[in-house]
Amino acid sequence: MFKEIAQPGSRTGTYIGETAVGRGLFAARPFRAGEFVGSVDGRFLRDAPNYGSDYCIGLDDTTTLEPTPPFSLLNHGCRPNCAVFYDCEEENGSVEGYDVWIETIRDLERGEELTIDYAWPSDAAIPCKCGSTQCRGWICREDELHNLQRTSTVEESARDVTPPTEVASDELLDPQSNVG
Ligand SMILES: [Zn+2]
Repeated sequence: MFKEIAQPGSRTGTYIGETAVGRGLFAARPFRAGEFVGSVDGRFLRDAPNYGSDYCIGLDDTTTLEPTPPFSLLNHGCRPNCAVFYDCEEENGSVEGYDVWIETIRDLERGEELTIDYAWPSDAAIPCKCGSTQCRGWICREDELHNLQRTSTVEESARDVTPPTEVASDELLDPQSNVG
């Protein structure tokens, strides 16, 4: 059922499996934090007015990379265990291309799903189902999350409730004492 990915020159050590949100990429062996997982291949889009697909990786103001499998299958996680890294290849001061790869940022056990933080802007955010105890509730960059939480007042009102106190309750409740 699972397809082992074995590309020439690749050290991915991953396989494709099913998740609650479709296909995902899983660790076929344990990984240590900071390990190279594999190079991201794909189509580089210049001056793309919008992301060509949900899986595009923004590299600079004008360049996005639309990855091909397996890394197009990386799902979002609010507590990700992998991240996208890239190097800019420059020639005579102008950008000639990018070297893009996936690296682990935490230790992974075999069978664990590889995830990255999509960090989408809030206007592109969708509800998150990553299942992490630290789930933000949305697939969204952390610094734009406040744009999406206007309707959530439960925590705020809970914080405003003054805890009951027995100390000096007479003074606080006496309307005469502070009236001059
Ligand atoms: Zn989440």
